[in-house]
Amino acid sequence: MKWFISVSFGELTLKGKNRNKFVKQAITNIKRNIKDFDYGNIFMESGKVYIEANKNDFPKMISEIKKVFGIIYISEVLMTDKNIDSIKNAVDICLNDFGKYENKTFKVEGHRVDKSFEMNSPEIGAYFGAYILKKYNNMKVDVHNPDLKVFIDIRKDAFVYINRIPALGGLPIGSGGEGLLLLSGGIDSPVAGYMMAKRGLKISAIHFHSYPFTSKRAHKKSIDLAQILSKYTGEMKVYSLNLLPVYTAIGKKCQRKNTTILSRRFMMRIAEKIANENKIQALITGENLGQVASQTIQSISVINDVVSIPILRPCIGMDKNNIIEIARKIDTYEKAIEPYEDCCSVFTPDRPVTKPRLKDIQFDEKNLDIEYLVDEVMKSLEIIEI
Ligand code: ATP
Ligand code: MG
Repeated sequence: MKWFISVSFGELTLKGKNRNKFVKQAITNIKRNIKDFDYGNIFMESGKVYIEANKNDFPKMISEIKKVFGIIYISEVLMTDKNIDSIKNAVDICLNDFGKYENKTFKVEGHRVDKSFEMNSPEIGAYFGAYILKKYNNMKVDVHNPDLKVFIDIRKDAFVYINRIPALGGLPIGSGGEGLLLLSGGIDSPVAGYMMAKRGLKISAIHFHSYPFTSKRAHKKSIDLAQILSKYTGEMKVYSLNLLPVYTAIGKKCQRKNTTILSRRFMMRIAEKIANENKIQALITGENLGQVASQTIQSISVINDVVSIPILRPCIGMDKNNIIEIARKIDTYEKAIEPYEDCCSVFTPDRPVTKPRLKDIQFDEKNLDIEYLVDEVMKSLEIIEI
């Protein structure tokens, strides 16, 4: 007998002939997350992936595998021979390994994939249900709402396991094109990246700093956030650029109250340029309506004006509490609240315009050589592979 972690996929099945490609992608992402563990054979059978590993590593491995999108549930399964005695033996081992079975209600779910096996699915359930009832006389059957489910899958081999651990669902990364995440050092943008990755977008990130006005630690913070996020998104490129030439020019030539909007328009222009050069189809931001001056619908509309590819804003209608809840769940929250300032906070005017008009902003922008500034910022491009 051998222990495996089994992984089942969810929505993938909707995707017809692309399924194999998506499963392959999900397996790549799983391997990336468990690379620090000493696991054995990985194989796929009838739509499930099995990973042979040391049972003691299961809890830690499962919490890493759980971060891969496209997985609906994960189980700790015992593989055994396809004969009744071996299966009984495996049921005993699984129950004892699970432990808390005394006085519990249960149900056995049989799944016969190999039709040559002597019992069909309901017969497997009934037979092994009776076996457990007789042997463990403090357990009771409840077919509707059992405390624990004992699964017996008859495939090329027999697999016995107790309960399924729900995973994140979603679609595997890369099944839905690519998005360029504007990653600040804040709470919202990592959550935005997470949410779009969950719908299958491969994620790259772009971060603007304004060194030496903002510190190296502020820059490192954004890279650290990308690192945490990459447990979910898989490998990620971070395009890092220095926006200082833009802030300097705005400071000299434009109205102070427009600084945030004007600089955001530059961020968008540069992000779109990088997206186009790298065949990335959309931008992603953590914008959320009504939090700050740059996030009124008027501001969003003026910022939006400079780009033509779609800007995805998955946090737009969320309450801050819910955003924080997700940030905590994905482990980006503690990092995001570290106090290293990003360029927005350093250059934020005291009284920013909250309802900008496009005409006024464009008028102010006439004082700037936009193409020149974009080129200057592009010269500082650094690419960090995560
Ligand atoms: P966050 O928590 O993501 O920083 P926020 O609520 O602080 O968001 P803003 O500071 O107004 O909101 O930023 C809105 C969005 O603009 C961010 O979510 C991010 O996508 C993008 N953005 C802001 N600053 C930067 C930056 N320095 N580099 C890259 N993107 C940025
Ligand atoms: Mg911010």
